[in-house]
Amino acid sequence: MADSRDKASDQMKTWKEKKGSQRSEQLTTGAGHPIGDKLNLQTVGPRGPLLVQDVVFTDEMAHFDRERIPERVVHAKGAGAFGYFEVTHDITHYCKAKVFEHVGKVTPIAVRFSTVAGESGSADTVRDPRGFAVKFYTEEGNWDLTGNNTPIFFIRDALLFPSFIHTQKRNPQTHMRDPDMVWDFLSLRPESLHQVSFLFSDRGLPDGYRHMNGYGSHTFKLLSADGEPVYCKFHYKTDQGIKNLAVDEADRLASTNPDYAIADLFNAIADGNYPSWTFYIQVMTFEQAEKFRFNPFDLTKVWPHKEYPLIPVGKMVLNRNPVNYFAEVEQLAFDPSNMPSGIEASPDKMLQGRLFAYPDTHRHRLGANYLQIPVNCPFRARVANYQRDGPMCMLDNQAGNCDMHAVIHPPGGAPNYYPNSFSAPDTHPRFVESKFKVSPDVARYNSEDEDNVTQVRTFYTQVLNEEERQRLCQNMAGALKGAQLFIQKRMVETLKAVHADYANGVQNLLNKYNAEAQKKNIHVYSRPGASAIAASSKM
Ligand code: NDP
Repeated sequence: MADSRDKASDQMKTWKEKKGSQRSEQLTTGAGHPIGDKLNLQTVGPRGPLLVQDVVFTDEMAHFDRERIPERVVHAKGAGAFGYFEVTHDITHYCKAKVFEHVGKVTPIAVRFSTVAGESGSADTVRDPRGFAVKFYTEEGNWDLTGNNTPIFFIRDALLFPSFIHTQKRNPQTHMRDPDMVWDFLSLRPESLHQVSFLFSDRGLPDGYRHMNGYGSHTFKLLSADGEPVYCKFHYKTDQGIKNLAVDEADRLASTNPDYAIADLFNAIADGNYPSWTFYIQVMTFEQAEKFRFNPFDLTKVWPHKEYPLIPVGKMVLNRNPVNYFAEVEQLAFDPSNMPSGIEASPDKMLQGRLFAYPDTHRHRLGANYLQIPVNCPFRARVANYQRDGPMCMLDNQAGNCDMHAVIHPPGGAPNYYPNSFSAPDTHPRFVESKFKVSPDVARYNSEDEDNVTQVRTFYTQVLNEEERQRLCQNMAGALKGAQLFIQKRMVETLKAVHADYANGVQNLLNKYNAEAQKKNIHVYSRPGASAIAASSKM
């Protein structure tokens, strides 16, 4: 039995074998004081009470009390790994960013995969989008491509983001997942249809993290060295091939092996079976963007490949597991506003909202100096600015870098104000952001009805085959049956606008479920423990 265990299960055995016959080190307190007894409290007599002077106890307990930080509001459960990005095709005519400098260039990366709605202890195999965030440690600062395994999202206006996420989390009174919340919101906001249709298709249950694609999803702007801008989308396609889980298998794994995806990634890398993805861009000129029949900055839409073909750029490979999960993955902080020179934001309203929300949440979870934490530190650039101090400040007044072992640059006494007369860090016009024109009036523009169905119809009729369409209807009805009847009805109405067969397929199943429930005189609720959106069909 023990011989057949995988590398993740054998982590401590492997550690001991690597350590060999070396003697155990001296146990110490956090302050480094050697400890003589770690099994027995210092007490007045054998029956207590204990003494405040027992710092062996207080040192250990006080640290234990502070071991956890707030979990991420979304994407709380995840797995991380490290590796590299290698350029295989030249795109310098589109982008001057250092990461694409020449064919063969290699840049270290960190990747975090995750589910979205579940808490840190939830199962890996629920129906949910997957986060696929990549941090490129470039010489001109870190670039974070904070993507998902879908090229689109549920909403296109960031003002709806907190409400949308509330519907995916727990009811504030019952502390349960609530299908009414989920389907009420989705049926009221039909721009979610495209993403909802992806989610309830087979790809809504990826088999671990290695067998799925990733997408930067948003529209970004690239700048060439001549300052010529284009719009761009990023795609990373799995070299392992797409593999999804059947509904029954995902359900079984959720109860028997809730860490399935974490273990799969860890073991593949530990076995030297390094997962990789081929990295592509799509490019749209400003002129094309003006004429595009859809809003090119709408996160609920894709750019069709035939009109905007995938352009190969490079390869991403993951070849190292984290050593300490908390330090390197729980504290790994991605921020879409981390864009080095050559990569800029587009007007995409969701991207613009995330530019604020992500660093804001990191400052809350990790503190004002979260960029000094080694895994977040732009260690290949030299940080030189006028920010000083704050909680957990690690730097000696901007002399070195967040990599404490880096060569110390100037002596650590630089001024903390700008401008100054003392040769402290200065700007360079080469790095000024691109200029762009905006003319319309400032207003709260209603984007609710910006063609929510054309691309969903293409997906339903042209991308999915008949069996996949049937499974989509089964999966959706299996989750929607948990909502009240008026919400079910409204959701089916939105599907009608996509395709009559889609609406009928879901409605027929709902009729069956509702009739069965009526017979038993109960309302049909999703299975306890499963995400409301995840609750999948069982015929
Ligand atoms: P294409 O035929 O060129 O591309 C179809 C895309 O669909 C491929 O990227 C394919 O990914 C992906 N796909 C296949 N099965 C599924 C599934 N079950 N769930 C999600 N994606 C799937 O068509 P277009 O570019 O013209 O797009 C047509 C429709 O395809 C779009 O309306 C959209 O719904 C969907 N799509 C488009 C993407 C894009 O960026 N253009 C990306 C993903 C989906 P793969 O090659 O990895 O199998």
